[in-house]
Amino acid sequence: MDESKTIRLAVVGAAGRMGTEVLRTVHQEPGLEVVLAVDREKVGVNCREFAGGRAPDIAVVDKLGASLDNIQADVLIDFSHGSGTAQHADTAVKRGLSPVIGATGVSAADLKEIALRCKETSIPGMYVPNFAIGAVLMMKFAEMAAKWMPDCEIIELHHDRKEDAPSGTAMRTAEVINEARQDAPTRKPRAAIKVEGARGGSYKDVNIHSVRLPGYVAHQEVIFGRLGEILTLRHDSMDRASFMQGVALAAREVKKLSGFVVGLDKILFR
Ligand code: NAD
Repeated sequence: MDESKTIRLAVVGAAGRMGTEVLRTVHQEPGLEVVLAVDREKVGVNCREFAGGRAPDIAVVDKLGASLDNIQADVLIDFSHGSGTAQHADTAVKRGLSPVIGATGVSAADLKEIALRCKETSIPGMYVPNFAIGAVLMMKFAEMAAKWMPDCEIIELHHDRKEDAPSGTAMRTAEVINEARQDAPTRKPRAAIKVEGARGGSYKDVNIHSVRLPGYVAHQEVIFGRLGEILTLRHDSMDRASFMQGVALAAREVKKLSGFVVGLDKILFR
């Protein structure tokens, strides 16, 4: 891809909280331009009416495929819902766009399907459970810690309108920890569970506790315990702006990747 060329973005979920932030900020980034805004809501409404004067001067549409047939775009940014991402990615790769999936709650089967579509078409793509640079670093540090401290639990805290639990970040962190451990975690003593779910849910041998309350944006603690010591890693996204540098980075770099990759770390630590 010509480095000096503007990268044209199609955004799905454009009328949502994350999509609106992309319209407002990523569209202003040098070399990036949002050329298509797709959503089920606010159809026909100009993006500037709900995302402000710095957003693109285009109306929201509801048909992704038909719209992409009439417009030139390079990258699909998907902040809609995990259930729709496989179809959106398929629609995109068929037309040569690289999918950058930010919606979480995507099933393992759908991720496999998307990876296969990218392989068949030789179009690179990404699934990024967390675009915040600090959150990617937290996962990297968790990977380092897990090698020496295999016993750990995750507490993730999000706003009460988040639909999936645990968060995509928590699940990815558990996967990374499990891959990095050189020893299995210590077998936990049997606890008398008086309230169902009190110990959280276990994924990849890591207990995950999901808190949902108004006021939070996106936060996570990874707590490692060893005899006589505790190590706590904590990351807080205070504002949705925290995700946008990562979105811009993924939009710029995705075409340079090979195949379908998971996580912004694949770009940050290349
Ligand atoms: P939101 O509910 O505010 O926005 C979602 C938007 O997508 C809505 O406007 C909805 O109408 C639209 N939508 C849903 N399904 C659609 C479909 N099939 N076709 C077209 N439009 C559709 O949610 P949000 O807070 O903006 O979050 C969106 C997603 O991004 C969630 O999955 C969330 O977990 C995820 N998220 C990811 C990150 C990250 O760093 N990867 C950060 C924050 C949120």
